[in-house]
Amino acid sequence: MLMSDAPGFPCPHCEQSITTTIQRLFSGRIYCPGCGLELRLDEQSSQEALSAAQRLDDAMQQAEAMKADALSFNHLQPQTSEQSRGRRSRPRRA
Ligand SMILES: [Zn+2]
Repeated sequence: MLMSDAPGFPCPHCEQSITTTIQRLFSGRIYCPGCGLELRLDEQSSQEALSAAQRLDDAMQQAEAMKADALSFNHLQPQTSEQSRGRRSRPRRA
């Protein structure tokens, strides 16, 4: 999944923008693309925030999947030609 607005933060050493993902955060190691500085997650202090972020991320992935499903043609019924032609003041209902 490609995200144009990936979350990120400036490197504390060289201030290059470091982008990361929840998944990468959970792997515990993030490297600055500019200077190669390794940033490690303080798991104990951030565990609560991370689990909340993980839940949010899961929910967002579910929402994306549901959105993709809704936008697919699975739920669209083709209109019969009778209905599409008869769009006047008196809609026909069965
Ligand atoms: Zn850096």
